[in-house]
Amino acid sequence: MSRQIIVGNWKMNGTRQDAQALVQALISGLPASAPDVVVCPPFTQLALVEPALAASPIGLGAQDCHKDVSGAHTGDISPLMLADLGVTHVILGHSERRQEHGELDETVREKAVAATKAGLTPIVCIGETEEQRESGEYEDVLGWQIKGSLPDGFAGIVAYEPIWAIGTGLAATTDQIAQTMSFLRAELVRQFGEAGKAIKILYGGSVNAGNAVSVLSIPEVAGALVGGASLKADAFLSIVSAASAA
Ligand code: PEP
Repeated sequence: MSRQIIVGNWKMNGTRQDAQALVQALISGLPASAPDVVVCPPFTQLALVEPALAASPIGLGAQDCHKDVSGAHTGDISPLMLADLGVTHVILGHSERRQEHGELDETVREKAVAATKAGLTPIVCIGETEEQRESGEYEDVLGWQIKGSLPDGFAGIVAYEPIWAIGTGLAATTDQIAQTMSFLRAELVRQFGEAGKAIKILYGGSVNAGNAVSVLSIPEVAGALVGGASLKADAFLSIVSAASAA
């Protein structure tokens, strides 16, 4: 199995001081045989933490980008600007952006194209609502999200994040994750052919220090996208260690 990747999504949290302290704690506590680790601070903290991260094995990610390189898009940040700052990864289509900013699969797909052109690795989030899980239509929903959100030739990362598991403390069960992961792999191969075998799939949704080993040991889980637990160095480092062990 290839190296796992643990991505921390800090969302809209923390001051500059908090960001610096968290980065320092992560760098000093990183285990020797760590998996790939990426942290995604808010835009305002990217430039601040970049020098310390650049001198460490931890990568720098962002939480969104625009589909254009520049232009009249008040309040937006382009993938070129992120690459210029030393950012290597960008989360796209997180359910919070889909819900709060009305992002559609098509928007996410255009952003993924733009991010890739700028040299960034897109981490495209997909996931079903609780209602869709319970009604049994979640596989259709996920299949459509893959079709709509991933561009042709996609060479980034997919994050499967059931919406009902995000920030709720209620992670999907290992059986649910295992079943959904094998469905997603089959769907990626169906839609992308041979290339679909190589696309890494992360799990996200209430991953914490207590459940990380079991989640990261599930076949097809190539790592985790971590929200709440990425804001505490100890918890995030435990998840990183769990990936080293998985
Ligand atoms: C997320 O927002 O991507 C996420 C997985 O959050 P949490 O770990 O807090 O559920």
